[in-house]
Amino acid sequence: MYDYGKCEICSTQLEESNIQQDFWIKEKLIVIENVPVGVCPRCGEKVVNAEVGEHIAELIRDRKQIDQAPTISVPLINYDVEAGMV
Ligand SMILES: [Zn+2]
Repeated sequence: MYDYGKCEICSTQLEESNIQQDFWIKEKLIVIENVPVGVCPRCGEKVVNAEVGEHIAELIRDRKQIDQAPTISVPLINYDVEAGMV
């Protein structure tokens, strides 16, 4: 297990957790599951270590893998709810 050390904001020991992280790559929303990050149980600050960051960069660069990945649909809501309802 990677030691994420302490939170830079509130100095609480960070805990390892697997989260879903989303990225916008040229108009396309990509969600990566099970990303190991350090999370602050107090303020919610998230820390990604260098190794994980590099792996994420590789994943989102791999267009072939992205094209073959399963897709999910997400709700799209207009900020101006009235205007969004036609
Ligand atoms: Zn914190």
